[in-house]
Amino acid sequence: MALLEGRSVAITGGAQGIGYQIAKVAAAHGAHVYLSDRTVDAAQAAAAELAADGAPVVGLGCDVTSPEQYRALVDRVVRERGRLDVLVNNAGITRDAMLHKMSLDDFDTVVAVHLKGCWLGTRAAAEVMREQRSGSIVNISSLAGKVGNIGQTNYAAAKAGIVGLTKAAAKELAGRNVRVNAIQPGIIRTAMTAAIPAEVLAAKARDIPLQRMGEPVEVANVALFLASDLSSYMTGAVLEVAGGRFM
Ligand code: NAP
Repeated sequence: MALLEGRSVAITGGAQGIGYQIAKVAAAHGAHVYLSDRTVDAAQAAAAELAADGAPVVGLGCDVTSPEQYRALVDRVVRERGRLDVLVNNAGITRDAMLHKMSLDDFDTVVAVHLKGCWLGTRAAAEVMREQRSGSIVNISSLAGKVGNIGQTNYAAAKAGIVGLTKAAAKELAGRNVRVNAIQPGIIRTAMTAAIPAEVLAAKARDIPLQRMGEPVEVANVALFLASDLSSYMTGAVLEVAGGRFM
């Protein structure tokens, strides 16, 4: 069963990791995918890989901290497809440091990419989705936003902020049949977690009831569920995809 047949889906930070898998799963379910990333080259290379299987996937540049670039992404989808059905706010970075060593720039940069980026995307998509009276926005938060992590006061604050943003936007947009939900992944095997030393990962894995890291596709499948009509009676929800960690 194709869950997104003919839908127009935009994803940020889609050139690798979780965003790439979300693009791949959406394309496999019949969506027209607009895969964006900070650099147009990375986005186009990733889109070309997915399009090689015949899927309609377009790669574009979109720095999520730029209102103009976010607006251009949404405008492009609407110009070419007439509508925007799904936006996945996925782009992310980390700039970890203990509080006493974290620079203001480390804080501002992380909050700008995650929280401001998510707000800009939600605002731009909502403008279109309100008028078409349908749409699904999926925001990628993190379990760090629920429990906090040492060395991540910036990231945890931004990811917790995404939960508040998601719930407020869900309430504002529900009357227009636009749903806004969030996912809180745990530790997922991507470039973002590749730098964590093996012994630290092994220690963390001992806290995970399912006893392993997650794979990007396991987050992508939940994003597919929230993007599709399978979750038609869900809005303002925060789904943990964390192998039971910190349940
Ligand atoms: P990833 O492999 O590092 O991919 C993140 C992507 O976002 C990269 O392609 C990156 O591009 C892009 N990006 C960074 N800054 C951007 C900007 N300003 N505008 C547009 N794109 C930008 O990370 P991931 O693990 O897949 O993470 C995806 C999302 O899941 C993030 O929001 C992350 O916080 C969240 N998450 C991940 C985990 C995990 O364990 N991996 C856990 C919880 C939540 P560049 O490489 O060019 O910077």
